[in-house]
Amino acid sequence: MVALTPFKEAADMLMEAGAEKLDNCYQCGLCTGSCPWNQVRSFLVRRIIHQAQLGVIDFESEDLWLCTTCRNCVQRCPRGVEIIDIMKAMRRVITETGTAKIPDSLRLAITNIAGAGNPLGEPPEQRGDWAAPLRLKHKADSSTLYFSCCIPAYEPKVKRVARATAQVLKTSGTDFNILASRENCCGESVRKAGDENLFNSLAEKNIKAFSEAGIKQILVSSPHCYHSFKNEYSKLGADFEVLHIVQYLAPLVSEGKFKFKKEVKKKVAYHDSCYLARHNGIYDEPRRILESIPGIELVELPDVKENTLCCGGGGGRIWMDTKKDERFSDLRIQQALDVGADVLAVSCPYCMLNFEDSLLGFSNTKTVEIKDVVELICEGL
Ligand code: SF4
Ligand code: SF4
Repeated sequence: MVALTPFKEAADMLMEAGAEKLDNCYQCGLCTGSCPWNQVRSFLVRRIIHQAQLGVIDFESEDLWLCTTCRNCVQRCPRGVEIIDIMKAMRRVITETGTAKIPDSLRLAITNIAGAGNPLGEPPEQRGDWAAPLRLKHKADSSTLYFSCCIPAYEPKVKRVARATAQVLKTSGTDFNILASRENCCGESVRKAGDENLFNSLAEKNIKAFSEAGIKQILVSSPHCYHSFKNEYSKLGADFEVLHIVQYLAPLVSEGKFKFKKEVKKKVAYHDSCYLARHNGIYDEPRRILESIPGIELVELPDVKENTLCCGGGGGRIWMDTKKDERFSDLRIQQALDVGADVLAVSCPYCMLNFEDSLLGFSNTKTVEIKDVVELICEGL
């Protein structure tokens, strides 16, 4: 059977923009059924793929900006269609040709990243200010870099994650460097928004800064920085060992490097982030750490590991508005409350931001605290 492509040029443009496996789709619809959007509203992934095959895409549709790149559909697709690549390709066509409008809040974040090196538009010279109260005696010549991510570096609600991480690294006796104003955003949301040129330029600048500082190993707090550095910068010539902080700390905890003095008497549910879990297969390390902290009772949420429920922040969505009754993070908070958790533990700054925002809308008498895994280590020391 010959596939009909009324607007072949548009379909070809998408293929060139990265939607290489578009033709594999045989329209079974499993992607639509597995997409978390359909828990809160209708989002017909299968139909978008079909329109892309035919080259009849409505580039003005807000649906093209919904995908959080959570990867749930990709792992279920029986034909190996890289659905995320197709979504990114459509955004890339919009970004590069100006065919349609980029959502205002996302455009602002990208403009900020291009100008100030961070999505919040904060001054680059203040990027390392989070570390000031710690009086770190980090070794400026250490080949290990702690890269905090833009959100813990600047966002007042999340700075505590960068500080707890530095504190824990210090306690473990790790020599590490921070590059402060010499680093830029990793560019992950820029790439998901379709701006390949800006992503490549950020990657080049960061690779140069890391190399000039003699960095060999990078420790990160964000699964998005992890994914970019490990899987994307490496294709652009970077040659660094990249570890998410839970990967670095789990063996140290097992070796007894931390002398826990306090009991953390809390029921803790761990939320797997899409980019640590589904994209990179890292499930056990955060759980091993939590189980080693005295007093913690680890409980599991209904959707875990490769079946985790997205917080809604990937794919550039962290910079876009999501209607109040359409937030996946609200569903996750409810799951944490339902299992009776005192703490919803995370290992991703986007998840933390989304859950903190969601909590504002919960008026339950019983609530849940949002904490990074590393903060819970600190509490036990
Ligand atoms: S699951 Fe895969 S094959 Fe099925 S409709 Fe979606 S993209 Fe096509
Ligand atoms: S990657 Fe996630 S959000 Fe995007 S279409 Fe697939 S299931 Fe939906």
